[in-house]
Amino acid sequence: MQPFSFTNLTGAIEIGSNCYSIETGGRRILLDAGYHPKKSGLDGLPRLDLVPDDSFDAIVMSHAHQDHIGSLPVAMRRQPRAPAFMTDATRQLGGIMLHNSVNVMVAEQTAGTGAAPLFSHREVDSIEKRWAAIPLQLRFDLEGERVGASDDADVTIGFCDAGHILGSAGTLIRSGGRTLFYAGDVQFDDQSISRGADFPAFADEPCDVMIMESTYGGRAMEPGFTRAREEERLASAIDAVFARGGCVLMPLFALGKTQELLAVFHEMRQRGQLRRDCPIYIGGLSAKLTEIYDKLARRTPRLRPGLDLLNDVQPYVVSGQNVSDIRLRPGRIFALSSGMMMEKTLSNVVARQFLSRPENAIFFVGYADPDSPAGKLRDAAPGSEVSLGADHPVEKVLCQIESFNFSAHAPRETIRTYVNGAKPRKIIFVHGEPASVEWLAAAVRTDLPSTEVLAPAPGVTVEL
Ligand SMILES: [Zn+2]
Ligand SMILES: [Zn+2]
Repeated sequence: MQPFSFTNLTGAIEIGSNCYSIETGGRRILLDAGYHPKKSGLDGLPRLDLVPDDSFDAIVMSHAHQDHIGSLPVAMRRQPRAPAFMTDATRQLGGIMLHNSVNVMVAEQTAGTGAAPLFSHREVDSIEKRWAAIPLQLRFDLEGERVGASDDADVTIGFCDAGHILGSAGTLIRSGGRTLFYAGDVQFDDQSISRGADFPAFADEPCDVMIMESTYGGRAMEPGFTRAREEERLASAIDAVFARGGCVLMPLFALGKTQELLAVFHEMRQRGQLRRDCPIYIGGLSAKLTEIYDKLARRTPRLRPGLDLLNDVQPYVVSGQNVSDIRLRPGRIFALSSGMMMEKTLSNVVARQFLSRPENAIFFVGYADPDSPAGKLRDAAPGSEVSLGADHPVEKVLCQIESFNFSAHAPRETIRTYVNGAKPRKIIFVHGEPASVEWLAAAVRTDLPSTEVLAPAPGVTVEL
């Protein structure tokens, strides 16, 4: 029996630069290489300095969100012989995300607000040659060769759909008769495009170690919540704004949430809840990522495979150049990134035109860090004053602010149910604030007294 050793390279117990080192059977695997969404320069990197350079056999990407893939070029520079394994969708989305990061870093440096870029377009192109796409539900060795269930490979990896965004996957690592399952980000319930996760039940083989996310560990599920009811609530809220001559801004993540909401708008139009000619605006990055959703629609596990978002919803594309020319005419929907309304992004720029106008509304539909501009605005009391950035004077919030739940992360109750079924021998909660991690850890200690709940401090290696 080969044990696993685990080191959290994330730097803190938070949703930041996700990165975990696993050692087993003399092999080393890096799980994710994210970049902290609220930091810049070297501060946003995970603690790759805590593991030896050129010592890893493989890097595994759970999905293409920035907090999981954003420092992959830096990790691959330090680990020049390790291939990176991911789903085909993550490979296609990841290239777009990393090239966009280069554009952002170069723009920040040019504006004098950021340090030198951490990697270049050319470096992204060059590491892409070491990315290997592997299909769901099969087993591969660390050289990327497919192995059968009875083959005698020492360490194997396999992906299963995580239901979070296009391409997101949980990773099952088998080593000398033992199993480690890294969930990545997961949603067990259906969204509008993403189908709920298809995770192993661990009925036939035990789960020795589970690494589980805890984004919503600090928040109870609302009683009676259903996605269908939330869609109704959003439709009537949009209707009310349009009826009083206003327009709606929805700050969204470019990857995942934008495409889910485009599908929601399509359904609303089909049901007659939204006018067919109601203009919907998205950003250029969102449009590029949506193209991949459309291209892979029939080749990936998803709902509504026949829905072609760009063709069927016909969103208008806004760029950084023309965003300041946008006229806030009544009856328009601005579905713009970034989701956390970070400074200089489209949602932040457009929001500044919204705040003082009571007929308008800003609707939040996903996760936003409480300290981000989106988090502060979402939690602001009506009539209170907020600032959306260093270059924005405090301003009274007169527009309507409302939150809706279209989460791409599982509620804590569903995670609890899954963990209770899988009965892992050991579990580590990651990807959450300390209070979220603690709630889930306490729940598992109550439900599964023989399961060991570990909370290794960042940078500390534990034997599992
Ligand atoms: Zn994610
Ligand atoms: Zn994440």
